[in-house]
Amino acid sequence: MAKYKLEYIWLDGYTPVPNLRSKTQIKSFDGFPALEQLPMWGFDGSSTQQAEGRSSDCMLKPVAVFPDSTRKNGVLVMCEVMMPDGTTPHPSNGRATILDDPGAWFGFEQEYFLYQEGRPLGFPADGYPAPQGPYYTGVGYKAVGDIARQIVEEHLDICLDAGINHEGINAEVAKGQWEFQIFGKGSKRCADEIWVARYILMRLCEKYGIDVEFHCKPIKGDWNGSGMHCNFSTDYMRETGGKAYFEALMEEFSKHCEEHIAVYGPDNHLRLTGLHETQSIDKFSYGLADRGASVRVPHSFVQNDYKGYLEDRRPNSQGDPYQIASRVLKTISLVAKP
Ligand code: ADP
Ligand code: MN
Ligand code: MN
Ligand code: MN
Repeated sequence: MAKYKLEYIWLDGYTPVPNLRSKTQIKSFDGFPALEQLPMWGFDGSSTQQAEGRSSDCMLKPVAVFPDSTRKNGVLVMCEVMMPDGTTPHPSNGRATILDDPGAWFGFEQEYFLYQEGRPLGFPADGYPAPQGPYYTGVGYKAVGDIARQIVEEHLDICLDAGINHEGINAEVAKGQWEFQIFGKGSKRCADEIWVARYILMRLCEKYGIDVEFHCKPIKGDWNGSGMHCNFSTDYMRETGGKAYFEALMEEFSKHCEEHIAVYGPDNHLRLTGLHETQSIDKFSYGLADRGASVRVPHSFVQNDYKGYLEDRRPNSQGDPYQIASRVLKTISLVAKP
């Protein structure tokens, strides 16, 4: 038997975007614990905007488990928040709203800024660095600075050790801006991994005295905002597809534009302006390889007789992947298959 440090992670009840919360409990196991071995736990919901002080208990239901290589016998336990009965999802529990679609594949591209002393890492105390251009996928001290690459590399290693399905990382268009991509078969799996990767990044940055800024437009002016492009496909899209189905799907997306924007992250009007590779927030459009459209249709999709995946470019960096996946799958479910 060994004592494991179980870090229970959950989303609090703050709106419009939840914050990550976590606490540790120690339990003994013969080996690395499986999800089924992890007990429910509770917390004080009155401190997280999830309950009144008089009846403050909320429950934590483990839903995904990851090894934590930064800690001896460390375990990261992603949880859903449940009501005191342990079976009813709490109203803040977006994960519980996802219509299960086992054939759904999601790939999120999480962009973010590293921040120090209230400004992007590498920005001078006064004014601005050289304009955008050399930073995207850049190399060299002038482009990426000294500490940023160390952080993103360390983050990548911790995530890979945890079994998170990273597909890649890159320096982004603005100075101090980075991206990682996570792909998952199963919408819940992919969204769980995005939240745990965010958690690992924020915790890692503590020791560098650096914050992760997930806001979608932290710097005004000619500086890119941060998105979280949502690439998605279902069994039907990959195996049957076809132009008629694709057009019906886009029609449904257009009809529900407002409901999508409502869960695609706060302050998105600051980012979806029609500039900087975005479509305006109040317009819906799609286009072949068009990075100025709401939905980009990859070349491979059209060449493959309208089969494959699509990229919704509207979700922003602060969006909740549970709510985003839930809405995308809901709209897909409204489309009749010819
Ligand atoms: P770009 O920056 O050009 O938009 P990225 O390579 O950063 O492209 O991201 C593309 C994303 O699409 C990846 O996260 C990948 O996992 C995802 N993806 C690829 N194929 C599929 C698929 N069939 N279903 C869902 N997502 C997919
Ligand atoms: Mn990308
Ligand atoms: Mn990007
Ligand atoms: Mn993209």
